[in-house]
Amino acid sequence: MILYVFKMNSEAQQLFDTITEKKALQRDYSRQINVIQKEIRKIRGILYKTCDHEWERDWEDRDERSRWVCKHCKLSRSPYYN
Ligand SMILES: [Zn+2]
Repeated sequence: MILYVFKMNSEAQQLFDTITEKKALQRDYSRQINVIQKEIRKIRGILYKTCDHEWERDWEDRDERSRWVCKHCKLSRSPYYN
């Protein structure tokens, strides 16, 4: 009777485990990034209402439609873009 051993060699197993650990870490960081992005969005909303904006053309915007940004807080005049 022939026995097939379906087992990874130990070096490959170690690499596989490292990848699994890194993927778990990546998921954690992704979650943290999402939380931070939400916080930034929320703070931008408050900043939009708080700053005494002075709007100027955003010449760096390569869009065909030019945008207006505040020269103090750098937020866009259209809240849609912030
Ligand atoms: Zn402003």
